Amino acid sequence: METLFPQSCLLCSSWQAGPLGICVGCLDDMPWHMDNACPQCALPSSDNMLCGQCLKTPPAFDAARSLFQYRFPLSAVLQQYKYGQLLTIARTMGLLVAEHIGRQSAADCIIPMPLHRRRLQERSFNQSAEIAKVVSEQLHIPLALQACARIKPTPPQASLPYKQRIRNMQGAFECRAALKDMRVILLDDVMTTGASLDALAKTVKDAGASHVECWVIARTIAE
Ligand SMILES: [Zn+2]
Ligand SMILES: [Zn+2]
Repeated sequence: METLFPQSCLLCSSWQAGPLGICVGCLDDMPWHMDNACPQCALPSSDNMLCGQCLKTPPAFDAARSLFQYRFPLSAVLQQYKYGQLLTIARTMGLLVAEHIGRQSAADCIIPMPLHRRRLQERSFNQSAEIAKVVSEQLHIPLALQACARIKPTPPQASLPYKQRIRNMQGAFECRAALKDMRVILLDDVMTTGASLDALAKTVKDAGASHVECWVIARTIAE
């Protein structure tokens, strides 16, 4: 299909996009966040040192990696989800995650951030799951699509303080799989405060996971 219908770049629409779906120039312009990040929470930290917050009160996950900072033009790419470019974007992002974050991974399974049933009906797709499918395929790490469910609908949290978000997330997830001694990757598209990933990590650790790592497309960085 790709040779019959060459892909145009997600950002500039040039026909030089190649199999990644994004051209070299636009890829260079992306807000990469692979260096100078705390290895546990992925917030900026010089020389990849563990940040003060993680030293004081570490999150439930053991590590977090983010491809990008959540700002233009990456934010514009993710906005296009709404305009029916889902599979193209999921493929581009999945390939980039596999290439830049996943290569050395010895994980046992990938669990995408689950959406609440009602939200899934509204949207008809789970963007994190679509990206996770590509990553799983590329790295030959099993996808555990049904391992976890979001059992509590949570309101949009953007304007809430962190402590309130953590409180809202309590009991939000349920794990239906036995994950004893497993190394688990949680995949999400955007990590804002990390409250959802923290709650999901707690849930999979309660189900026996020994190591939990978050892989995200973009991390929100406070200005
Ligand atoms: Zn381009
Ligand atoms: Zn940290």
